[in-house]
Amino acid sequence: MTERLYYADSHLVEFEARVVAVSQAEGGRAAVSLDRTAFYPTGGGQPTDTGTLGAARVVECVDEEDRVLHVCEGEIPSEGANVLGRVDWPRRLDHIQQHTGQHILSQAFVELYGAQTRSFRMMEEVCEVDVELADPSDEKVYGAVRRANEIIWDDRPVRIHQVTPEEASRLPLRKDSAREGELRVIEIEGFDFSPCGGTHARSTGEVGCVVARHWERAKGLVRVTFAAGVRAVEDYGRANRTARATAALFSVGREEGTEAAARLQEENKQLQRRLRAAEETAARAEARELYEEAAASSEGGSAVVVARAFEGPDAEGLRRLAHALAAHARCVALLGSVEGGAARLVFARAADAPGDMNALMRAACQTLGGRGGGRPEMAQGGGQHAERLAEVLDAAAASARG
Ligand SMILES: [Zn+2]
Repeated sequence: MTERLYYADSHLVEFEARVVAVSQAEGGRAAVSLDRTAFYPTGGGQPTDTGTLGAARVVECVDEEDRVLHVCEGEIPSEGANVLGRVDWPRRLDHIQQHTGQHILSQAFVELYGAQTRSFRMMEEVCEVDVELADPSDEKVYGAVRRANEIIWDDRPVRIHQVTPEEASRLPLRKDSAREGELRVIEIEGFDFSPCGGTHARSTGEVGCVVARHWERAKGLVRVTFAAGVRAVEDYGRANRTARATAALFSVGREEGTEAAARLQEENKQLQRRLRAAEETAARAEARELYEEAAASSEGGSAVVVARAFEGPDAEGLRRLAHALAAHARCVALLGSVEGGAARLVFARAADAPGDMNALMRAACQTLGGRGGGRPEMAQGGGQHAERLAEVLDAAAASARG
């Protein structure tokens, strides 16, 4: 059994202990168990501590029944040796701030809205709580954050109590504990009692501040992404850099970046509309030219056939031109283009022109080694044999002229 020194003192980061056992772990590492430890093992939503044991590096600590295993790299101490353990303080402080910040934020949700916290996760940069919050809104979430910061800035004492189940039943615990026997209860003076095995601040001021970055509905609960203390400051730094970089793109101040981006988006929409209108006009002009050329050389048959292969236009451009051509009397438009080594076809005819575009398309696509089809007035398709595009258009034109 490992005596857990962090239960009594979250700020103890240097301790002496005796090595009780050493066993092999994965990847050439060793798992060291001690008679006592200040290292917090992964659990309860809080990640592991790291640090050193003598000359060995502690990369992870895990709970194994009543022991804490210290997964170590480097010079592993031998069984029976006395070692000096050192917990990485910046990491421990970060965990203290997030963990205590979570107690405070969770109780703020209870106090203001009767909303219990169902789960808590500490991630790489931020933390999450899932709260039973009805009718969530920015106002409610930021209201709880405001209340949590009031408690933090009150600098209220945080106390650790070891209590029996009977004593625990008389305390106004925020949540029930699944544990049996003696219970560790964390009290935030005049605000919160929670059973918890984690590491906490001495007083709420040590948490610094709590900020909420985001909230969303998740599985019937409200997931609030938050950060406390050092993380809040770092998150502010990231958010500030992003906001400033965005604003700099528009040569405006930080607070005007969003408005400038929205303006650009609106301008872009209008330009898109104008571009589409200009493309329609251009397609109509091009269609008229192609139609007049074809009509002049047609031999007075029942159809005016425009068969043409283009370089470049995309599917939309080809369709637009085919539609514009089909607006002319007796016109049959047989258009093709090559893009990325593949041939694309659009066939269309005027209502008063003869021919079945669907049938022409199917025959053309067979030659191109592809697929296509449509209606008698309009069909689309394509195939891989781009080198046969001219041949295919000639054959379709011959069919269309009857
Ligand atoms: Zn806790």
